[in-house]
Amino acid sequence: MRFVTLIATLLGAVVAPRRGVGSRTTQRIGPAWQVGFSRQSDLEFRRLLDKLPAAAYTCDADGLITYFNDHAVELWGREPRLRHPSDRFCGSFLLFAPDGSPIPHADCWMALALRENRQYNGEEIIIERKDGTRCTVLAHANPLHDRAGRIIGAVNVLVDITDRKRAETVLREADRSKNEFLAMLAHELRNPLAPMHSALRLMRLTDDAAALMHARGTLERQLGHLTRVVDDLLDLARITRNTLELRRERIDLRSVLHQAVETCRPQLESASQALSVNLTDEPMQLDADPHRLAQLFGNLLNNASKYTEARGRVWLTAERQGSDAIVTVRDNGIGIAPEAVARIFDMFIRVDESVQRAHDGLGIGLSLARRVVELHGGTIEASSAGLGMGSEFRVHLPLTIERSRTLGPTLAGESDEAIAVRPRRILIVDDNPDSAESLAELLALSGHETHVAHDGAAAVEAARALRPEVVVLDIGLPKMNGYEAAREIRRQPHGSEVMLVALTGWGQDEDRRKSRDAGFDHHLVKPIDYRVFARLLREAS
Ligand code: ADP
Repeated sequence: MRFVTLIATLLGAVVAPRRGVGSRTTQRIGPAWQVGFSRQSDLEFRRLLDKLPAAAYTCDADGLITYFNDHAVELWGREPRLRHPSDRFCGSFLLFAPDGSPIPHADCWMALALRENRQYNGEEIIIERKDGTRCTVLAHANPLHDRAGRIIGAVNVLVDITDRKRAETVLREADRSKNEFLAMLAHELRNPLAPMHSALRLMRLTDDAAALMHARGTLERQLGHLTRVVDDLLDLARITRNTLELRRERIDLRSVLHQAVETCRPQLESASQALSVNLTDEPMQLDADPHRLAQLFGNLLNNASKYTEARGRVWLTAERQGSDAIVTVRDNGIGIAPEAVARIFDMFIRVDESVQRAHDGLGIGLSLARRVVELHGGTIEASSAGLGMGSEFRVHLPLTIERSRTLGPTLAGESDEAIAVRPRRILIVDDNPDSAESLAELLALSGHETHVAHDGAAAVEAARALRPEVVVLDIGLPKMNGYEAAREIRRQPHGSEVMLVALTGWGQDEDRRKSRDAGFDHHLVKPIDYRVFARLLREAS
């Protein structure tokens, strides 16, 4: 080991007092071995050790410290005494093995290197400083020899890996959470499948109206659940990539809250829980994304119901406080332990699995809630008097000051029936036959003439032959993708008149830009929201 040889050669020089940490003057190298090196060698030695990006110290053959550099002082938190028995081998610091067991000074790596005349490299060790703080280091302890081969001391280079260890722990924890999450996800995705299979089977076997109605209800509920899980997953991806976006419009917060209540009402009713809603009479105008806010408050209400016993109570209040809207969702349910309150907004956190195994959920809802609130410039906090004492979630959102403008359109509370649309000839293109047919059937029920195609080339042909007024195009299509098909359709004689709607699983800005460039008029993300689609049809002249 060249470095050790070099130090061994240089050691022993009589060194003049040198600058210590701060402005004090400290003698860091004692007159260990008077072997007569030149002052020049000594300076080179000091420069070398000063530049070393690690803590380094040396001791003589008795283990008394003869040298240490600045990094060593930083690491230990104080300077050890040179050539002093109380700081023998490595100072009077407490040392521990990685498993936490204490290491006596006489058995530390420096002592072993001297006693056994052998090298110990890359040995992990924990040092506890006088103030109780700990750091993890890799020790490289090596004996030093004179020209005759006799041990004259040892050198120890300590590399601080505390940050790396901390990062490792965080990664290990993240990996554990990820595995738990995947297990939970598999469970969440599989759960709705069995009742859906049974319901479909039942529909095939019976004509009984009541049984059919029941089966349809089951399908709707379970499909709703699956859709929520998939939506959560997509949102999770958006949160982790920081690409969650808002589609802001002027809204009245109260209509969003009504919408959230309506979404959760079936769940509250099935658990016979009483919901008290107390909203201010004044309008509460926000420039906000109504869909995200309805999702946020829907999540809080959903949780309030989920973590509350049957026949429990849930309260929703909204009031104005200065220039903020304060929305509170409170319940008298299982509550949250004080130590868990700060963590519940973290991703994948599900408090005390034993209590909550009975409840479904991926532990994403509250992280998403926090992100959505932050994007709106607000805050969210949770509180609970403890387990069994109920919980409260308080959301602050900044109100829009200007009050004269009329409220913009909102979908909140708008029913499908409210949107009357003139019948159109619509071509639906999707390589998944079920998706295409089901959308076509639904639109046909509203009086539209519908046609389907399953690849890009067929879509272009169908558009030429049928001259539809509206084409709903999937993007990932065989033979010719949706962008190319859109361009081809636009090139047709009547291509500029047709309304082109991209219907895809991708909803990032970049995806929207691409579809605009390809000539699409609108970009909708699957699953299609019929009210939004009907609105587009109505707005098109
Ligand atoms: P989940 O899908 O598990 O409900 P969330 O992110 O919505 O995920 O919530 C995270 C955790 O916070 C839940 O698993 C639960 O432990 C706790 N929690 C959320 N809301 C409540 C509540 N109203 N009462 C008690 N605990 C709650």
